[in-house]
Amino acid sequence: MDSMLCVSGSRLIQSGLTNTNHFKERPVIFVNAGGGPIKKEGNINLDIDKDCCFEGGDVIRTDESIINGGDIPSVYQSARFGTNLNYKFNGMPVGEYLVDLHFAEIVYTNGPKGMRVFDVFIQEEKVISELDVYSIVGANKPLQVVDVRVSVGEDGVIFMRFDGVVGSPIVSGIYIKQATELPKSTVKKELLLCNNCSAEVKASSDQNRVTRTNSLAKYEKKIEELKAQCQLKTDECHEAWMSLTAANEELEKIRMELDNRFFSNMQLDQAIQKQKTELRDVSRRYECDKKLWVAAIGDLKKKMKMMKIEHSQLSDAAHGCVNNIPEFNKMITAVQVIVAQHEDLRLKLNEEQAKSKKLYNQAQEAKGNIRVFCRCRPLTKEEISNGCQTAVDFSAAKDGDLTVITSGSTKKIFKFDRVYSPKDDQVDVFADASALVTSVLDGYNVCMFAYGQTGTGKTFTMEGTEQNRGVNYRTLHQLFKIAEERKETVTYDISVSVLEVYNEQIRDLLATSTTTTKRLDIKQVSDGVQHVPGIVEAKVENIKQVWDVLQAGSNARAVGSNNVNERSSRSHCMLRTMVRAKNLVNDECTMSKLWLVDLAGSERLAKTEVQGERLKEAQNINRSLSALGDVISCLANKSSHIPYRNSKLTHLLQDSLGGDSKTLMLVQISPSDHDIGETLSSLNFATRVRGVELGPAKKQIDMGELQKFKTMLDKAKQELRSKDDAMRKLEEGFQNVDGKAKVKDQLFKNQQERVHELESQLASKTDLCRQLEKQLLQLSEGKKEKEEICSNFQQKVNELEKKLKEQEEAASMNLHFKVLTICTYYRKF
Ligand code: ADP
Ligand code: MG
Repeated sequence: MDSMLCVSGSRLIQSGLTNTNHFKERPVIFVNAGGGPIKKEGNINLDIDKDCCFEGGDVIRTDESIINGGDIPSVYQSARFGTNLNYKFNGMPVGEYLVDLHFAEIVYTNGPKGMRVFDVFIQEEKVISELDVYSIVGANKPLQVVDVRVSVGEDGVIFMRFDGVVGSPIVSGIYIKQATELPKSTVKKELLLCNNCSAEVKASSDQNRVTRTNSLAKYEKKIEELKAQCQLKTDECHEAWMSLTAANEELEKIRMELDNRFFSNMQLDQAIQKQKTELRDVSRRYECDKKLWVAAIGDLKKKMKMMKIEHSQLSDAAHGCVNNIPEFNKMITAVQVIVAQHEDLRLKLNEEQAKSKKLYNQAQEAKGNIRVFCRCRPLTKEEISNGCQTAVDFSAAKDGDLTVITSGSTKKIFKFDRVYSPKDDQVDVFADASALVTSVLDGYNVCMFAYGQTGTGKTFTMEGTEQNRGVNYRTLHQLFKIAEERKETVTYDISVSVLEVYNEQIRDLLATSTTTTKRLDIKQVSDGVQHVPGIVEAKVENIKQVWDVLQAGSNARAVGSNNVNERSSRSHCMLRTMVRAKNLVNDECTMSKLWLVDLAGSERLAKTEVQGERLKEAQNINRSLSALGDVISCLANKSSHIPYRNSKLTHLLQDSLGGDSKTLMLVQISPSDHDIGETLSSLNFATRVRGVELGPAKKQIDMGELQKFKTMLDKAKQELRSKDDAMRKLEEGFQNVDGKAKVKDQLFKNQQERVHELESQLASKTDLCRQLEKQLLQLSEGKKEKEEICSNFQQKVNELEKKLKEQEEAASMNLHFKVLTICTYYRKF
């Protein structure tokens, strides 16, 4: 260790600073490197300066205790360390000084040795060479290098440099004190040159030169011997080292080979394990599949058996059917004969229907295409209380005669098709009107209207009340009734429209928006057929819907005016029913119209009584009623020109007045003697319409002619009845035959369907049988294949296991051999 010290007189102390050995001499300067100042403490009568005069390096501190730290261990708990570290103390008086340097390893307390090696230069002279504090004292232990002699010249500077050889230098404290001057003789030195290393060896002048030379030679010789020995040992070492290296390499190789073997064994093991699990999986799946196949095959076999049974049953049934075919053929011919008969009957029925229709129409026509009924209402309570008298006589009402007692005893007789007294009710009135309903359904246009003075019962007759319904409702009810009866042979499509004609303007009472101001007009769509474009046609399928439509119309009429009765008496309310018929037997289609009209009051107002709007209304009513009278009269007289277009009313009714169409006028009169004027006016109008003028007291008709007419009518009626009976019988016969034919037809169809069904079933079962056989074949082939795959797998596994065993044996043999070789080798070595 002392070889580190380059200055004679200096030495190492492996402990901390103590009072006893050093503090006798007062320091010139004592620096606590890397730390602060330390005041006198304990038995040390010394102040230590804080770190100063340094250049470079960093500060480090430790809280760990310093072992053998002496009297001031805190000096060693701080240090300055780092590269380019130096201390420069200026202003030192010229002279000799002794420097003590204090070290401790407080940074790398775990070593290793040699991690921090450094040189110390003072005044550029190396004073400590390759100092390794850790390798001398270890960590956290003080090391002192004391009494390093230093001379300070004129510049008054002591310069210390710490140079790292390995790592960076470290220093904990620097203590500088003045030294006593050495005698010149002791200071003087001589240099000797070493023959071996050419180093200059210092020798004191008082040593004997001769002795020195001798001892030097002796040392040199010794060195030579030592060198030779050293060389020998080096060679031996080298040889041993080489063989050791070779053995190590061999060992390494073997280890590697062993590792490789081990690894490949492991891989083989894994592969075998994998193969084993795969094999197990395959066999398990195979077992499962096998079970499934067995079950499926069993199932299929059962199904096959069942199907074979079914197949034979079906074949039997099919054979039975085939045997029945001649029977069927016979039935077919029989049915064909029946169908032909049926066709014949149908033609006859058509003819009969046409004839019946014609006859009915003839009967109606015989009654007159224009018929006039007269109805008189009872006296009202008011009239009775006012002392009004009945001015109408109904004693001959049954014969259609009506006598009006005019002034005094003057009587005027009127003749109508029917006369209803105040006792006759709604049912009686309708009983006669209902005949026309059949005509409507037969395809004829019909028009019924009520005419008369306001308050005589026009609305009562046409509309009636909810409890006592009038012609409108009853007619439509009858329409639906007959339509229902005829539904087997004819289908009817019925729609209803409700119009109002006021001041020569048409208003649609079924239009949804009450504010509709659209002007409705009459258009001729084809020869003699009138239509009002844009009019609402409410489709009705039953009488309930009809009632709703009638109500809607009635309500709409009320909405249009402030005073319903007033308005209704000054406008014509027209209910139009369109009937579209389709004969299912001969596909004949017809379209007919039924008009049910409640006319405006016919009373004539004195010209002085009315003005303005009321006058206009009255004029319009008069014009339209006159036009109606004219048209009907012209029709009755078979006039060449019929003035339909003189009013909206007649124009609307054009196709329902005249020609084949039937017209029924219901003239309403009051029984009161107060209304006699209007009553006579109405009756005259009605008579004109009827086309037969009656004399004032006597019947104007030729009774012989009438009798002839009556006989004709009775004959026609009888004929009609007998035709009706024949028709009914024919129809019944036809229905019987038709029913039988239908039954046979159905039977035949059923049998044919059954044969087809059986045939198709047979075909599908045969197909299924074939498919099942095919599936069975495929399944048994699949089973064989799977079995082959399994046996292949088993073989492979056996082979692999065998290989593995062989490899394991070879590997263990090889290993055993290697181990033996290595052991012998080592034993040798
Ligand atoms: P119009 O429509 O001709 O102006 P209405 O039908 O309004 O007359 O009849 C006026 C009044 O006379 C109503 O109260 C009605 O009930 C009554 N009336 C009319 N005809 C008959 C009758 N045959 N039997 C009983 N009351 C009747
Ligand atoms: Mg009325």
